[in-house]
Amino acid sequence: MDTYNPDINLSSAVLRCPYSQCNARIITPKCNVVKRIETGIPFIKVGEDVSTDAITDNFIIVDDVWDFDNIGVSKPTDQFVESGVKVERLIICSECDRGPLGFAFFDNDDEKDVKKLKYAVHLDSFVYDLKQ
Ligand SMILES: [Zn+2]
Repeated sequence: MDTYNPDINLSSAVLRCPYSQCNARIITPKCNVVKRIETGIPFIKVGEDVSTDAITDNFIIVDDVWDFDNIGVSKPTDQFVESGVKVERLIICSECDRGPLGFAFFDNDDEKDVKKLKYAVHLDSFVYDLKQ
């Protein structure tokens, strides 16, 4: 199992829960587009060389909840990330409830339909199962 690094081809990797007793399969991303978002949210981090006070984090954006193999979501929150996006839910592992592993948000402030939620998946929060 690997931790995140920018050379990983995300669309050929399985992202798994970082808790070694769990390792549930969370998602195989469909895209490789990494987005940096300042959040200030204390996401779970894997590996000792990752700074815990980093405020700019790497994410992929997932448009469809059905892309996930396993995902849990928190109750609605009133938290905002530092770039001004409203966090609607926090993402957790549905098998062991550990997290947060990312967050869910709406593209449009007026949106209320949970089916339109988008998911920002925090890349440092996973272990990577690389299919060669
Ligand atoms: Zn888990």
